[in-house]
Amino acid sequence: MRQARRVPDKHSQVDQVTKQVAVIGGGISGVCTAFFLADAGHDVVLIERHQNVAQESSFASSGLVAPAYAGPSAVPGMPRRILSALFQSESPVLLKPGLDRALWRWARRWVAECDLDRYRINRTRLQRLGLYSQGLLHRMREYYQLDYEQAQGVLQLFRTEKDLKLAEPGIALLAENGIPHRQVDTDGARAIEPALASDTALAGALYLPQDEAGNCPLFARRIKHIAADIGVQFHFGRRVERIEQDSRGVALLIDGQRFPVDAVVVAAGADSERLLQPLGVRLPLYPVRQYAAAALIRNFDNAPKAALADEAYKVEIARLGSRIRLSGVAQLTPDSASLKERAMRTLIKAGSDWFPDAAGYAQANFWSGVRLVLPDGVPVLGPTPVRDVYINMAQAESGWTMAVGAGKLVSDMVSGQAPDIDADGLTMARYG
Ligand SMILES: Cc1cc2nc3c(=O)[nH]c(=O)nc-3n(C[C@H](O)[C@H](O)[C@H](O)COP(=O)(O)OP(=O)(O)OC[C@H]3O[C@@H](n4cnc5c(N)ncnc54)[C@H](O)[C@@H]3O)c2cc1C
Repeated sequence: MRQARRVPDKHSQVDQVTKQVAVIGGGISGVCTAFFLADAGHDVVLIERHQNVAQESSFASSGLVAPAYAGPSAVPGMPRRILSALFQSESPVLLKPGLDRALWRWARRWVAECDLDRYRINRTRLQRLGLYSQGLLHRMREYYQLDYEQAQGVLQLFRTEKDLKLAEPGIALLAENGIPHRQVDTDGARAIEPALASDTALAGALYLPQDEAGNCPLFARRIKHIAADIGVQFHFGRRVERIEQDSRGVALLIDGQRFPVDAVVVAAGADSERLLQPLGVRLPLYPVRQYAAAALIRNFDNAPKAALADEAYKVEIARLGSRIRLSGVAQLTPDSASLKERAMRTLIKAGSDWFPDAAGYAQANFWSGVRLVLPDGVPVLGPTPVRDVYINMAQAESGWTMAVGAGKLVSDMVSGQAPDIDADGLTMARYG
């Protein structure tokens, strides 16, 4: 039951073969991919093991849709910075030294990506996809009249000169790539965010006026309804056990039954690797847990107007409707009560240092999500070496920022059409 209302797109009128496509995963990546596949004319089913969309990482997102801010975690100078923060009681990274070989192998590759030239390549790739994605998001917002608690602008806060120094290569790249940004002093920062606490040290700030924040799960639910209207069939509470190759293409194994399809898109977040490994699709992924908190605003005059990022603790602070969303802290070792406690303390510190009277942080709801991260921090989109198996995964810290563009790009590739942007560096081809 396809409706006439579609996002106007230069490809929409092009004749193409209609395929039956299964999307695995109802996070923001899967929902956006399913929408664009149906919009392109395919028969689409989306399989999600929970009872609704956006129940895992996409639920935890702090909401930044921020192509200017988005960057890899591998930044020149970051390894030393992390080592010095490891033993602080509040820390952006939680890591218990041990003998996890997989972690050390991954860490070696991550350190190599901290090289200045590699950093510039990776961040430019993220900006290319992020700006494309934001443009499409705006078109969808306008076309479908979407409201998802949007707020304009992101302010990066640097507590010390060291934090500012670490940001220099990124600021230089923004200038080179013509992305609007403005360095401001403490008065300038407070002119942008008047409620910013004056007794927390601030060496400087960077304002990104075109970045924004928005409620990711709310947006996913809105797109779910639009996608259903144009024909996407959602199957909730069903878990894909395995992907098998089939004479017709591929087949999914669900509850012991085989379902053949023409193509499958794996957008299964942290479970993607488990589904892909038996097919021989291997990538240097590592699972990283990230924490989030939502605190009810009790004093709106003292709350942030939009989104901020505390660069010392790598905590993002966003005003989403009547709540302040805090998120951050990358945990690279197995869960423990003490690590969780440290993560929560770090989030609360960032919130109460910058907006002490805005919300009751101690009463906030806390949760966390696991995401698969590649050393370069750039997602992998499009075909795999296995015929008819496509991926949309490893979005790291910026999956919400990239989701709409990544969904469209993968849909174009499944349709055999050239994507709107250069896909160089965004596919598995970068792994040879
Ligand atoms: C705390 C936190 C804060 C973040 N903040 C931001 C931010 O401010 N801005 C930003 O751009 N990004 C942010 N991110 C990153 C962003 O949220 C993620 O990159 C994005 O949500 C990933 O979406 P996804 O759809 O790929 O994965 P997920 O949301 O994890 O969705 C995967 C889905 O697949 C389903 N699934 C898995 N396996 C199967 C199976 N076998 N069968 C059926 N279903 C399956 C799962 O149930 C899940 O619903 C944040 C992430 C976290 C954890």
